[in-house]
Amino acid sequence: MSENSNPAISPAFLEALVCPFGQAPLELNGDLLICTSCKASFRINDGVPEMMRETVILPEGMESPDALPCQSGDA
Ligand SMILES: [Zn+2]
Repeated sequence: MSENSNPAISPAFLEALVCPFGQAPLELNGDLLICTSCKASFRINDGVPEMMRETVILPEGMESPDALPCQSGDA
């Protein structure tokens, strides 16, 4: 167990999760899941990741989910 592990998110569950914008793997960082590709973050609320366009925390400098690099080219 690392310091970053969230008891609500098991390693197997984490492995099954992918970025909703580009299917890239996510990594756990405290109460956030962060896309390893586009760096979008998703809050974990009561053990349930909020992985919707409406709840995504965009990386610095990003103004819209449409601009996430994860998503571009996959249309
Ligand atoms: Zn992504």
